[in-house]
Amino acid sequence: MKIDILTLFPEMFAGVLGSSMLHKAQEKEAVEYNLVNFREFADNKHSTVDDYPYGGGAGMVLMPQPIFDAVAAIKEKASTTPRVILLCPQGTRHDQKKAEELAKEEHLIFICGHYEGYDERIREHLVTDEISIGDYVLTGGELGAMVVIDSVVRLLPEVLGNQESHQKDSFSTGLLEHPHYTRPADFRGMKVPEVLMSGNHRHIEEWRNKEALRRTLTRRPDLLDKIELTPEQKKWLEEVKKESK
Ligand code: SAM
Repeated sequence: MKIDILTLFPEMFAGVLGSSMLHKAQEKEAVEYNLVNFREFADNKHSTVDDYPYGGGAGMVLMPQPIFDAVAAIKEKASTTPRVILLCPQGTRHDQKKAEELAKEEHLIFICGHYEGYDERIREHLVTDEISIGDYVLTGGELGAMVVIDSVVRLLPEVLGNQESHQKDSFSTGLLEHPHYTRPADFRGMKVPEVLMSGNHRHIEEWRNKEALRRTLTRRPDLLDKIELTPEQKKWLEEVKKESK
């Protein structure tokens, strides 16, 4: 996967793209990151990228020219048609389904905004997706781009050591994931559930399935309305509901 990031603050990405899984993904050549400061594409004497809004009002607006030209320069060299993603609080809320969809692409371009926002023609004529990372307003799109990139890159084949580990992650299954425990079995009187040390894989699997349902029921019951449960899961869910009464 190729990822181009259009930003006025490329230095913000060093720590995140240079550490942990995102860094390893690049080392393994599963992904290639390219930071583009779109100020370099401004065709005016002072490399200005923003201007006052027509009609007046507070804040500066990102001009279309530098961003259109930066995207055009990337597309000119591209072998496939990239998805062009605008980070924006007014976009579709990011979720695991979207991350899975983007992980199938070969080339993504992220546009990070700043100031009051973008000239509307960028939104209307240049981008394929508008993504928000939540109902709050950030200073710029950089943190949002990092969040989306992290959620996508970890899904690429070969990036996570154990492929199964993300297939069971919260949201991938439509449910929240079951609780985890590691050594010691007894930590200051707080004990690991017996079943997990029983060695009985069928019982362990059943416990995990039931706990995933219990977690989802207590923390995110809205998720249960969105998925089709198997007959077995329905039975477990009924048991969980009875146990919580
Ligand atoms: N005036 C804009 C509005 O009310 O919709 C907010 C602009 S915000 C200060 C500047 C930039 O930060 C945005 O253009 C966008 O790139 C980014 N941004 C802010 N909040 C975001 C969010 N929740 N998700 C993704 N990007 C966000």
